[in-house]
Amino acid sequence: MADTPKTRQETRLTHAGRRADWTGLGPGKGGIVNPPVWRASTILYDDVAHLERGWTTNRDGDLFYGRRGTPTQWALAEAITEMEPGAAGTMLYPSGVAAIAGALLSVLKPGDHLLMVDSAYDPTRNFCEGFLKDWGVETSYYDPTLGADIASVMRPNTRAIFLESPGSLTFEVQDVPAIVAAAKAHGAKTILDNTWASPLYFTGIDKGVDLVMTAGTKYLGGHSDVMMGAVTANAKSWPALRHMAQLHGQFVSADDCYLMLRGLRTLSLRMAQHQASALQIANWLESQPDVARVLHPALPSHPGHALWQRDFTGASSLFSIILNGGDKAARAAMVDSLKLFGIGYSWGGYESLALPIDPEKYRSATQWQAEGPAIRLSIGLEHPDDLTADLAQGLAAFRAARDD
Ligand SMILES: *Cc1c(COP(=O)(O)O)cnc(C)c1O
Repeated sequence: MADTPKTRQETRLTHAGRRADWTGLGPGKGGIVNPPVWRASTILYDDVAHLERGWTTNRDGDLFYGRRGTPTQWALAEAITEMEPGAAGTMLYPSGVAAIAGALLSVLKPGDHLLMVDSAYDPTRNFCEGFLKDWGVETSYYDPTLGADIASVMRPNTRAIFLESPGSLTFEVQDVPAIVAAAKAHGAKTILDNTWASPLYFTGIDKGVDLVMTAGTKYLGGHSDVMMGAVTANAKSWPALRHMAQLHGQFVSADDCYLMLRGLRTLSLRMAQHQASALQIANWLESQPDVARVLHPALPSHPGHALWQRDFTGASSLFSIILNGGDKAARAAMVDSLKLFGIGYSWGGYESLALPIDPEKYRSATQWQAEGPAIRLSIGLEHPDDLTADLAQGLAAFRAARDD
């Protein structure tokens, strides 16, 4: 797509998907700013010839049947595609997990081998063990710190490599270009879960990744009120991705797409504040004696910091801390004492969350070793000084509850 003045992500976020024929009544008749909510099941055709023509095309922009979408879905898909320079298209799914399944099923067939990063989101592992295994696809898990050495764990039938960078809970940064190069040399496809950075802070298609997945549920939506997943593909992987999603009847409502588009328009502002607040708080936590380690890729102390600096254009606000000793009861005392942090799954909303985490439950290729129990923090848009004060009283509650 020729995008002459739209060369920066912030500008694309503002303009993407707002085609005049999706927001207006036609030339000379005016238009509105946002693509409206087009709710539809039945599409009405002008005549039988039009109906028959409908079968011959299959692309966003042609009304066919509700399941194929309307301008509301197309606008969102196009906006996400524009955020990934070089991408051919985006399919939308009712959740991030559905998007992961859709991406995997578009590249794998029975008899294939899948390499899955050991720090993957737990439900991603569950899809491999709970479905792919019975379907005849074998998954093996690899150390997230493997770069070009990934070649050493590839098998003749390795068909796909799944990456998630930084990893869930423990935030290992992967050498995406090195893994992509090894995969290409082997003829394997790469799929990246890019939820942490969002396409604002990491683009994968231009680094050679075949399929980039994002849980829109998190930062894209940004308001903890909508669930959605997206997979963006390069030209080679796009037809199979679209085909598989359509076979499965994947569909998201126009109302949810409208919420997602609304979130997208402010993504760059929210992310800038999420980033700054999280970094301030992460730095403060790193100086606290009750905290053994802070797992945040933008901190120089993080083992993946150099890779993060090389490949990312920013950091989001999700990171973990490892407490300096203490047990799970003391950790619970801390989390329960927090006033501004909700306790719950998901993240990327405007409100802060704290979640006790036990990464050892979800690792098989690597060993999780830590000085104490861990907590994952999602830093929201509250004032960072208020959040820091809350965490300070939380650490005091942790100290009081420790029995060692
Ligand atoms: C939350 C999450 C998902 C799944 O998104 P849902 O919309 O909750 O299904 C996928 N990957 C990562 C890294 C996530 O944190």
